[in-house]
Amino acid sequence: MKSIQPPVRILLGPGPSEPHPDVLQAQSKPMLGHLDPVFMQILLETQDALRKVFQTRNEHTLAVSGTGMAGMECVFANLIEPGDKVLICAAGFFGERMGDIAKRSRANVEVVRATWGTSFDQEAIQSALAQYQPKVMGIVHAETSTGACQPLQDLGRLCQTHNTLLVVDAVTSLATIPLKVDEWQIDAVYSGSQKGLGCPPGLAPVSMNERAITKVRQRKQPVQSYYLDILELMKYWSSAPAYHHTAPITSFYALHEGLKLVLQEGLETRWQRHQRNWQALKSGLLQLGLKLLTDESCQMPALTAVEIPSGIDDLTIRKKLLNEYGIEIGGGLGPLKGKIWRIGLMGYGSSIQNVEKFLSAMQKCLN
Ligand code: PLP
Repeated sequence: MKSIQPPVRILLGPGPSEPHPDVLQAQSKPMLGHLDPVFMQILLETQDALRKVFQTRNEHTLAVSGTGMAGMECVFANLIEPGDKVLICAAGFFGERMGDIAKRSRANVEVVRATWGTSFDQEAIQSALAQYQPKVMGIVHAETSTGACQPLQDLGRLCQTHNTLLVVDAVTSLATIPLKVDEWQIDAVYSGSQKGLGCPPGLAPVSMNERAITKVRQRKQPVQSYYLDILELMKYWSSAPAYHHTAPITSFYALHEGLKLVLQEGLETRWQRHQRNWQALKSGLLQLGLKLLTDESCQMPALTAVEIPSGIDDLTIRKKLLNEYGIEIGGGLGPLKGKIWRIGLMGYGSSIQNVEKFLSAMQKCLN
């Protein structure tokens, strides 16, 4: 057996995005024990940085060991008790996945749907809330399967009038577009390390406010998953830590460095960079004669969904991009398989150089 030599790729798919070189370097620093005081300091700094990036003062803010899906499972496992009514607003693959996870947490789930590639009307959500009176409502902020972004500003207030907890999937939105957890009264939110934060996959930032934690504390049964129990996890994320599980030490080094870079750049500047590079991508795609799937009103900079022109084979182009130009883009999920390409510009990978390399390669592939 030989040591591996992975090729250098330009990662312009739906994630993982290309990590900043400093993030990769941080991952190879010396190993520490998971209860070493130096490591605990790294965790507490990470927690503080996560609060800043989520724009929250929530005490219950941490990163779960696992990918974005672990964040989704953590939030639902903690908030739902068997039989709880849960409303899921689904307009894509990850909205549907949320419904599945809520069902597996033994909720009584209702799903309201919007056409893939669009966002929800506020009235549709309002009437579903009034009709179902759910304990929890879940929605995806940035639907990675369609490139559609959901406005969230007013949903928290609306949920509060129905005594409903608002859960937001911010896997693709965190650090790519504005997300203001406290101002928008989001009760529970989760994300992933491998997209806008520009880190390798493997950690899932999660934050829950006091309204959400009160529901967790009032549970009749303990959270079924010990691993994802937020109250147990918080005993580890403290100044007097107790063993919960062996944290993936070097992944946390990477997250710490990634968050440091986000805060150094500044959230506003980072959002603007994503917007600028996406505008360049979008106008280049339109010049190539390609069309976007997503409704103009809700397109987002981190993920662009492009319709595959008729007569062009999805895999032929993606393989050519990968093998001849070293560029990865994504294909469609679910009913959009074979119908769209998904181009991600996230974190460190959102650069004008990447946009130019991609557009030039795509033009040659299409010719
Ligand atoms: N939610 C959204 C919106 C996603 O885009 C993804 C992954 O792409 C997930 C959840 C699941 O995250 P992961 O694949 O890191 O488990």
